[in-house]
Amino acid sequence: MQRCKILLFALQAIVICAGCRFEQEGTGPGKRPQVLALRPRDELEIGRQAFGEVLKQERVVREGAQVEKVRRVSERIAKAIAIKPLQREINLRVADYQFEWEYAVIQDDRVNAFCLPGGKIVVFSGLIDFVRNDDQLATVIAHEVSHAIAHHASERIATDQLIRNPLKRLAYNRDQESEADHIGLFLMTFAGYDPDEALAFWELMGTASQHGIRLPEFLSDHPNDARRYANMQAWVRDAKAGKAAFGAGRIAKP
Ligand SMILES: [Zn+2]
Repeated sequence: MQRCKILLFALQAIVICAGCRFEQEGTGPGKRPQVLALRPRDELEIGRQAFGEVLKQERVVREGAQVEKVRRVSERIAKAIAIKPLQREINLRVADYQFEWEYAVIQDDRVNAFCLPGGKIVVFSGLIDFVRNDDQLATVIAHEVSHAIAHHASERIATDQLIRNPLKRLAYNRDQESEADHIGLFLMTFAGYDPDEALAFWELMGTASQHGIRLPEFLSDHPNDARRYANMQAWVRDAKAGKAAFGAGRIAKP
């Protein structure tokens, strides 16, 4: 969301300095190289501050069916993140980070959601009204949460400093979207949701976009990208196989 991006970049000025940046190679999801700009405690602090601003500035829905729906889905996704074999499979770097999972529903007709660093989930009422079931809501929440647990905001700050070519930056952002699709499908599946509903939701949004409905962040980049959809189809199969292996105790201990 634009407003939160602004917040994030305002806050980054506080925490970025020559002495506090560090780089990591090969420690990213899937063991890819990942350069990060923020220390774990900076991520948490930025998330806390930005979430505080959201609560202050937006019309927050305090109780009712929408809040319950977001609570139960968010809690199941957060639980899936704690599954150690899954963390190892994805190579999630979460052990030295503190996540304070919190969620808020805001009264806003747009079909949207986001997750701030440190685990603060914000869901727009327009999204809750739009989804057909919990599985589809889990699709979006798991995707957004994946950005947070893969430290994409921190990585984006670092790469914005390092990469001057706008096309290369765009490619980087698309890679992050793809990675959040991938991780999100595994998370929702391990949380017990049906990943086929991710594909159903994708198709639903594709149709909706043709009727002028504004797309959520995670579909705003190339919503009709056939390759992205094909990737998701393949990952749905992988996620189901992974969950079955986990259920049968076939995912090895370290
Ligand atoms: Zn995304």
